[in-house]
Amino acid sequence: MLVIIMKAEVIVIGAGMAGLAAGKWLQDNDYDVIILEARDRVGGRVYTDHSLGIPIDLGASWIHGIKDNPITDLANQINAKRIETDYDEMISFDYDGSSIDDKTVEEYEDWHEELLESAAEEGNIPMSEAFETVLAEEDDLDETDRRFLTYLNRTIEITAAGSFDELSASELDSDEEFDGPDVLFPNGYSEIPEYLAQNLNIQFNQVVKKIVYQNDQVIIETSRGQFTCEAAIITLPLGVLKKGDIVFSPPLPKKKMAALQRLKTGTLNKVVLKFEKAFWPKDPDYIGYVPAEHEHHQEYLNYYHYSNKPVLIDFLGGHHARNMENQSESEVKKLAEQPLKKIFSKFSPATEMIRSKWNSDKFACGTYVILPPGSSLADIAELSKTVGNLYFAGEATHDEYPGTVHGAYLSGVRAAQELDEEWDEE
Ligand SMILES: Cc1cc2nc3c(=O)[nH]c(=O)nc-3n(C[C@H](O)[C@H](O)[C@H](O)COP(=O)(O)OP(=O)(O)OC[C@H]3O[C@@H](n4cnc5c(N)ncnc54)[C@H](O)[C@@H]3O)c2cc1C
Repeated sequence: MLVIIMKAEVIVIGAGMAGLAAGKWLQDNDYDVIILEARDRVGGRVYTDHSLGIPIDLGASWIHGIKDNPITDLANQINAKRIETDYDEMISFDYDGSSIDDKTVEEYEDWHEELLESAAEEGNIPMSEAFETVLAEEDDLDETDRRFLTYLNRTIEITAAGSFDELSASELDSDEEFDGPDVLFPNGYSEIPEYLAQNLNIQFNQVVKKIVYQNDQVIIETSRGQFTCEAAIITLPLGVLKKGDIVFSPPLPKKKMAALQRLKTGTLNKVVLKFEKAFWPKDPDYIGYVPAEHEHHQEYLNYYHYSNKPVLIDFLGGHHARNMENQSESEVKKLAEQPLKKIFSKFSPATEMIRSKWNSDKFACGTYVILPPGSSLADIAELSKTVGNLYFAGEATHDEYPGTVHGAYLSGVRAAQELDEEWDEE
């Protein structure tokens, strides 16, 4: 095999949103930059699959909060088609398939929100514990209340990508959000990283194994060669760094390693079902199902509404998302279809299915950062700190917008600007 030996002023590791943002900023400011990427594509955790004949995002789907969001600017620059999601446009069903009216859902949602707020005051302890503490103060809870609250807890576990026992009660809602509605990309989110990647020098299939950093030089060993530069921007996912397969020489400082240990990468997975024809209504954005105790599939994005194709996207979070990765295709399909079979009399089985497996993806090792009990946003800030001539970016280094595409993008720009300021001073 040909061993590649290359040199650049700056090397960026990772061609996800953070790496592409850093690489583009530096190149636009006349730096000589190479990006090293383990996969054969750009985008990382932004990934549009086309195997069902329509674009389906198995990674990020939405611009969360379009107002002043830098991803909105990028989408505008390429005129990318976007469709708004209205989370209130949901039809809800109980575990026996019967319909639940909007008023009942709203009442439970309001109550649940109050419970979560009280639970957050219990401190930096597992949300499972905090929630049970506040629930113990409620009178006359019946079986339906319990089931409904568990369902609503799981909707939080999906968005947060962590189960309640993995999430800190006080830190669950500690990040910031942009205003405005959420929009998704019917032609696929990959349009954005592909746009950023234009004209950048990206070396694909380069799995970084070792990073040796000295005063004015960084040597990076990959599966295929050796790269040297004056400074590097590292955008490796938190889960990849935590796994410890990449050797840093000298080792990263103890404070950074301690923050790395306290934080965790959560899991959110999607099961995409394509049917012969739609047996459900076109209008709602979501179909919700309050499951029986043994069931875990409960939330379906009605992709028919967005694509005019008979597709539903089922979401799982935390332990359920991780467990799903070990189940067979037929088992997952059966479990994902079970609620639909109960709800819709005209149900017929899906003809095709695809699913994500972000936890077992060795170049992601999970979905995005979660704050476990005992951790805080200060740990994320610690991860972003420069070590010698190594700069750090990636969603898990943005302490305002962690776990998002815009957080990743902004972290890449921040790291590039930090490097630029440092070099200006020299
Ligand atoms: C299922 C799912 C749903 C999501 N939904 C949303 C959403 O709707 N809205 C939103 O804003 N955000 C969402 N996110 C989060 C968002 O996708 C991420 O925060 C963001 O894309 C992370 O970008 P990044 O550049 O930090 O990391 P990545 O995109 O992971 O980029 C890191 C890059 O490093 C590469 N790499 C890994 N190991 C090596 C190695 N050893 N050598 C070289 N390269 C390596 C990877 O292949 C990858 O390309 C979602 C994520 C997932 C997985």
